[in-house]
Amino acid sequence: MASKITKSLNGSLQVPDQPIIPFIIGDGIGPDIWHASVRVFDRAVEVAYGGKRKIEWKEILAGQKAFDTTGEWLPQETIDVLKEYLIGIKGPLTTPIGGGIRSLNVALRKELDLFVCQRPTKWYEGVPSPVKHPEYVNMVIFRENTEDIYAGIEFAAGTSDAAKIQDFLRDELHVDYNFSTGTGVGIKLVSELGSKRLIRAAIEHALEHKLPSVTLVHKGNIMKFTEGAFKNWGYELAETEFEHQTYTWGQWERTKEEKGDSAANAEQQEALAGGKLLIKDVIADNFLQQILLNPSDYSVIATLNLNGDYISDALAAIVGGIGIAPGANINYNTGHAVFEATHGTAPRFANTDTMNPSSVILSGVMMLEYMGWQEAADIIVKALSKTIKEKTVTVDFFSLMENATLVKTSSFADHIIEKL
Ligand code: NAD
Repeated sequence: MASKITKSLNGSLQVPDQPIIPFIIGDGIGPDIWHASVRVFDRAVEVAYGGKRKIEWKEILAGQKAFDTTGEWLPQETIDVLKEYLIGIKGPLTTPIGGGIRSLNVALRKELDLFVCQRPTKWYEGVPSPVKHPEYVNMVIFRENTEDIYAGIEFAAGTSDAAKIQDFLRDELHVDYNFSTGTGVGIKLVSELGSKRLIRAAIEHALEHKLPSVTLVHKGNIMKFTEGAFKNWGYELAETEFEHQTYTWGQWERTKEEKGDSAANAEQQEALAGGKLLIKDVIADNFLQQILLNPSDYSVIATLNLNGDYISDALAAIVGGIGIAPGANINYNTGHAVFEATHGTAPRFANTDTMNPSSVILSGVMMLEYMGWQEAADIIVKALSKTIKEKTVTVDFFSLMENATLVKTSSFADHIIEKL
């Protein structure tokens, strides 16, 4: 009988053979890409486990469909079900226009405290790319999901609240800044707890998957007490909680000061040869150059909310664009996770059966991996790669490939299923 996924007292996920998994179908192109993707998931699980395992899908409402049915964009029941069943998957959602909810995705992340936005970026052979060597990109981004300038604490120019804050800064804190009446205010918040739980998740991911490095990406040279603190807390965490498993650039610098360059280099080489994970950092603007110039130097990325937003899209573009970029929002402490297509609802193409379902399919792969159903995840990746390599593709890739075969969303899924 189908049952819920739970988290045991020791912190591990308990996944029954027939788990109930809630899904949000999504607006616009959501139904097209979901219907194609779910057939791939079901068949992959059936093939991988000989019928022993099966997902029971449970539809929950959000977005336009929820509004049309219940009058609410994000019904409380949807949040309650996601809380209860731990894991969910969703298609893209329309952002309501006007007051109230700013973004349904942000609201979901907040309600479930999904502090990690995880985005793997990897190139699949044959996918059209604007760079010469997209195969050098193989990174997993851990973007902090709850803090930073994205916390939504903003006051519009000309309001009394904005004026009050400016008065307080000038009169009480003696801030030397020439405030004018037409100035809006946004507050940037970065906490030790928020930074460390994100960086901890990134380090644990790198250790578990035997990846070579974690890079802290920040603008600490300018924003010292927020982004600079993020970097410092990251090094501190690595050197305390992961002392025996990591080697940090901070350690390298200390050895260099005491014993010189060559001793520091030798120490680093020995640590890495012994299997230690390298923890380094890079300034965000430089990182955006590095992903084009030296992408193979980077593996796991831990960064703040706004940097992570820019970096995720820049990397997605390098490996083939938003039609193929998956994502997940996770709270590693409670186990809650929502896997999602990273693109929007592309409303112009709703019900045309033309868009690329790869983003949802690969989000499902992340979900299966999170559940520990690695075999099903692996065969989907293999079949999807093969389909693209054979140049059987949807319109977004077709327009950029030579001698390709154009297929509909549903038929793209059929080709993957055939190969499973
Ligand atoms: P969009 O991502 O929906 O579309 C931009 C363009 O990208 C499309 O016109 C299309 O050419 C291409 N595209 C998107 N998905 C594709 C796919 N699967 N295959 C092939 N091509 C694809 O961005 P938008 O037009 O700015 O936003 C439309 C709506 O989606 C808005 O309401 C926005 O708020 C919402 N949105 C939702 C999410 C989400 O739920 N995660 C994310 C971004 C935008």
